[in-house]
This record gives sequence, C-alpha cells and structure tokens, in this order.
Amino acid sequence: MPTAITADRIGHSPLAQPPLPYAETALEPVISAKTIAFHYGKHHKGYFDTLLKLVGDTPMADRSLEEIIVATASDAGQRKIFNNAAQAWNHNFYWNSLTSDHQAPDGVLAAAIDRDFGSLDACKTALAEASIAQFGTGWGWLVVDNGTLKAVSTEDADVPFVHGQVPLLTVDVWEHAYYLDYQNRRPDHVKTLVDGHMNWAFAARNFANA
Ligand code: MN
Repeated sequence: MPTAITADRIGHSPLAQPPLPYAETALEPVISAKTIAFHYGKHHKGYFDTLLKLVGDTPMADRSLEEIIVATASDAGQRKIFNNAAQAWNHNFYWNSLTSDHQAPDGVLAAAIDRDFGSLDACKTALAEASIAQFGTGWGWLVVDNGTLKAVSTEDADVPFVHGQVPLLTVDVWEHAYYLDYQNRRPDHVKTLVDGHMNWAFAARNFANA
C-alpha cells in the first residue's frame, strides 16, 4: 500500500473536493478562467459527487482516495468506483502540478533530470510528447519508475501509482482540459503548459518523498 503518494497528501478524502489552489484567472491566457470554471466546478466536482453516491454509505468513505484507488484498480466489478476515485485524485494532483509562476527545478530534482533526460528542455519535450501522443482521453505524467525519471501517459482515469510509479507532475489531456481555448490544437496547449507552467516546487516535494 502506498503511504506517501504526494508529500502534501493532497485532498486524500474521498468525500471533499479540495479548493482550487489559485484563482480561476491564474493561468490565463494559457488556460482561460472559463475553462478552469467548467473543469474544476463541473468535471472535477462531478467525480466527487458520483464517488459520494457510490461509497458515501460504505466503509470506503473512511478510507483515503489513494487506498480506494489501489483497492479497486484490478477489480472489474468496482470499475465505476475506481474511475471516479482516480479522476478525483488525478485532478487534485493536476491543479497542484500547475502554477502561474515560471519556475525551474533545482537541487536533487534538477540533477536527476540532467541524469535521466540530459537536460530540462529534453525533460519538457519528453513530457509534452508523451502527453500529446496519448490517444483519446488520458494523462501525461513525469514519474519516478524504479529510481529513474520517465515521461509516460495513462489512459482514461488510470493512475501511475497503481503500476508502481511515483507521479511528480501531470498534464490532463482529456478534451475538456483545453477544448474551449484550443479546440483541436492539443499540441499547442500541452507545449505551452509544460514549457512555462509546471509547478517544479510541487514536483520536488513529490520527488523527495518517492
Ligand atoms: Mn480533467
């Protein structure tokens, strides 16, 4: 059982959607306030609302999102719970992966990026390419896999930590994440976001805990 998925234990309750960590306008013009309002207020909230209906009166309500995700990941009969718990968790992690500041990694994370990708630019390119290449709905991720940093993608609601990988950052590539602002131009959206709006301080905390 993973005990420390993120250093911050962000929003580990299955019953309460955490507040957005910044104003809806914080990421303009890369992500409009309108997109954030729908994405956070309708899509993300919807996963919590559905999860509450599914587990609110069961012992799972007292467990963490991470525990629910791990417990249901390989059980086809609990797919609906897994999907909604995982999407609730993925979005908690996504909001914290983004920032309005232009940041760069430093310290041990910067050293690991140089070791495993060659440079920060190569790391960003790998994360953007993994995200853009995800066919259909899913997520791009920077993860630690057996001690090595990698850029990967997951399909639909899937989460790296059920596959033994520790997530550091994520990019939502479901169309609802960008369609109002970018329509079909997923690559433009992803490249702009990855290049200038990744929360490397958040990544560093996750890396320290990996
Ligand atoms: Mn989303």
